[in-house]
Amino acid sequence: MAVATPYTDKTDEQRAITEMVHQFVDEQILPNAEHYDHEDSFPEPIVEQMKELGLFGVTIPEEYGGMGLDLTTYAMIVEELSRGWISISGVINTHFIGSYLLMKFGTDEQKHRYLPRMATGEIRAAFSLSEPELGSDVQAIKTSAKKQDDGAYEINGQKMWVTNGLLSSLVFTLVKTDPDAEPRHRGMTCFICEKEPGVGENTGDLAGLNVPPKIKKMGYKGVESTELVFDGYRCPAENILGGEDDGLNKGFVQMMDALDLGRVNVAARGVGLAQRALELALRYSQERKTFGKPIAEHQAIQFKLADMATQVDAARLLVRRAALMKDAGERSDLEAGMAKLFASEAGRFCAEECLRIHGGYGYSKEYEIERIYRDAPLLLIGEGTSEIQRMVIGRKLLQRHKI
Ligand SMILES: Cc1cc2nc3c(=O)[nH]c(=O)nc-3n(C[C@H](O)[C@H](O)[C@H](O)COP(=O)(O)OP(=O)(O)OC[C@H]3O[C@@H](n4cnc5c(N)ncnc54)[C@H](O)[C@@H]3O)c2cc1C
Repeated sequence: MAVATPYTDKTDEQRAITEMVHQFVDEQILPNAEHYDHEDSFPEPIVEQMKELGLFGVTIPEEYGGMGLDLTTYAMIVEELSRGWISISGVINTHFIGSYLLMKFGTDEQKHRYLPRMATGEIRAAFSLSEPELGSDVQAIKTSAKKQDDGAYEINGQKMWVTNGLLSSLVFTLVKTDPDAEPRHRGMTCFICEKEPGVGENTGDLAGLNVPPKIKKMGYKGVESTELVFDGYRCPAENILGGEDDGLNKGFVQMMDALDLGRVNVAARGVGLAQRALELALRYSQERKTFGKPIAEHQAIQFKLADMATQVDAARLLVRRAALMKDAGERSDLEAGMAKLFASEAGRFCAEECLRIHGGYGYSKEYEIERIYRDAPLLLIGEGTSEIQRMVIGRKLLQRHKI
């Protein structure tokens, strides 16, 4: 019997919801993911069912129509969804970050305006830091907002790699508001930019925000990644996250706070993807025979399975620890960085080992592992690359152990 520890035990509520999502993945996502991946088309019917299951409002408080669950439970759900297909978790990931930003920093008016419709999935959120010339070095952002005589801000510049960039209605966008600020991060503000979902060229009050055709990617298909072009887009001052008085030039700190949480989320995606690769490897290795016996009976293959299973469990434990600490209000930046680094690398490792175990069939589009192998590298990049995680971990370690 498995021993329950704070890092493996689930409450009745967590068990019920993860079992429900597990079943949803088995019945709705796994049988259909290959189709949407090969077509690179948005999985609308799956997303509609996710709305019905309430998955867009998992962490949004009940008073706004959400489930009001914690990060630990959310991470369990993300792991299950990612076991099916990481693009599905991509549809809710930026939405989750947007709702966190609103819940933590938004004014009451902003919360009431957006959260109830976000909880149902009626409107979806994206978040945008990256630009064509930067990703890791967020403080180098060039997109700028300038206050106009009527009090509104005019935004100009180009954003890159915006997940849900086309179909979202809100984009939490980090821009420069004080180009002379020193240090640079003090001059940045997060604007809640409204847009028409599914529209390339916004018009009327939303004119000046255009979405070029989606970027073609090696994996992570189905969910769109786009550029955003701001060309004289006008954003009212009340759409500064937290309001103009409290939110102006506070965007960097707000976004970094949300990224901490986002790292736990990406780490959970790594666990789900690695778990699925392990499941496929366990099955295939017992079916495929070479030299008169199933390949699972060759010790070299067993060692691969052993390494994969160990990585999956270790990654899951790191994710759980980081999420539990965040939920408890403890400082968890170091732990979130470790979870993100380890779990995303575990995802890549398990995807490759599973592909190797499949031999030539692993290279065929007929087999699920081919998609997983293309999807896995994204997790090494989004929400900070492995190199950036190591920088964060190293810096935090030295801060905590200063002599
Ligand atoms: C499919 C996809 C979806 C994405 N979705 C979003 C999104 O929704 N919103 C958003 O804002 N961004 C998004 N991104 C962007 C992502 O966050 C960036 O790609 C990532 O942060 C890396 O930035 P970069 O691509 O500019 O690489 P760079 O920052 O140019 O880095 C290039 C290489 O140099 C390394 N490097 C950089 N600086 C250092 C350093 N100081 N020391 C050592 N090595 C270093 C990096 O690790 C990397 O290996 C997405 C990206 C992809 C691919």
